[in-house]
Amino acid sequence: MSEAETAVATTGATNGSAKKAHKSGAASAEETRPVHTVTLIPGDGIGPEVIDATVQILEATGVRFVWDRQEAGAGVVPRYGTALPDSVVNAVVKSRLALKGPIATPVGGGFASPNVTLRKRLSLYANVRPARCLPGIVTPFPNVDIVVVRENSEDLYSGIEHVVVPGVVESLKIITEVASTRIARFAFEYARANGRKKVTAVHKANIMKLSDGLFLECCRTVSRSFADIEYDEMIVDNTCMQLVTRPQRFDVMVMENLYGDIISDLVSGLVGGLGVTGSANIGEEAIVYEAVHGSAPDIAGKGLANPTAVLMSAVMMLRQLGETDAARRVEDAVFAVFQEHRWITRDLGGTATTEEFVRAVLDAMTG
Ligand code: NAD
Repeated sequence: MSEAETAVATTGATNGSAKKAHKSGAASAEETRPVHTVTLIPGDGIGPEVIDATVQILEATGVRFVWDRQEAGAGVVPRYGTALPDSVVNAVVKSRLALKGPIATPVGGGFASPNVTLRKRLSLYANVRPARCLPGIVTPFPNVDIVVVRENSEDLYSGIEHVVVPGVVESLKIITEVASTRIARFAFEYARANGRKKVTAVHKANIMKLSDGLFLECCRTVSRSFADIEYDEMIVDNTCMQLVTRPQRFDVMVMENLYGDIISDLVSGLVGGLGVTGSANIGEEAIVYEAVHGSAPDIAGKGLANPTAVLMSAVMMLRQLGETDAARRVEDAVFAVFQEHRWITRDLGGTATTEEFVRAVLDAMTG
């Protein structure tokens, strides 16, 4: 991510960061710094570990936060009868900003994904997932710098499924002109605002001629208003092959919900894995920052999780809040730790625990 990259110009969602009033003109510099209220949703699995690690590092920047901690996930179902209590949604509506850990969703049954529900209830229509080679991390390809813009509100994630007759199930893929045009416009505006050159629309319109055909038509229409940004299109299967052979050909990529979910994990793998890629779920009224990764039940509670992905999401948040100096200091410290290669977590080939990594980042920030 470049310095400017994470400032999302297309949303009004910066929270009511309050400046303490100057009483007699004698207020200290510390007192006049804005205080940012952020809803903190630790989630489950490795969520609480990586969120706590991130909060520790954010606190060390000197930026003033008020954390409104909210619980969601399977653990709250007995108390609230739902994995996503209204109080969590209302808290984000109020603060307009959230930093969220992953929340597990039962496979093949059980409650609906609280992650998808939160995005829908808050109309967080754009999921921005940047992935680029980071200093000190060995990757299969150099110079990968891709931003996946994923439509976040519809497609097969509409969750409209039913049994037609026993043994036959129908799952509806909803694609609308409104949502497709909105995400295409977002991708082009993002590209323009961040000095990027190209937008690639990813689709399967050769098979799903109506649904993906409509998505593609919307991208084409929007592209005509952005003569300064190159536009191309690619079928999703070929996209996967191109990504693992010539990833440098991609810049900003825009796609429907399901393709975006899959492609962003693939792209994460190109730059070091799920442990390093952050994201922002963006709407007109709120932004929820979270890692691309899930709750990683295989390593939860073992102190092995890499908090970089949530930390990079938090860096995006700092930039959105105008705390660019703090964002740069966090990023520089993480990169210094990567380059020293002493306190690297297991997913990146090292042996450090989450705690050791955090300590190393804090040392790099203050040292
Ligand atoms: P996952 O992303 O949780 O894990 C995939 C692999 O990556 C695992 O081997 C895991 O150990 C590793 N990994 C992920 N994050 C890591 C980190 N920070 N540090 C080190 N290693 C890390 O994917 P999954 O196993 O398919 O999903 C687990 C659960 O998470 C599921 O219930 C799924 O629904 C949920 N999920 C939630 C979100 C979200 O909250 N936004 C996103 C994806 C998946």
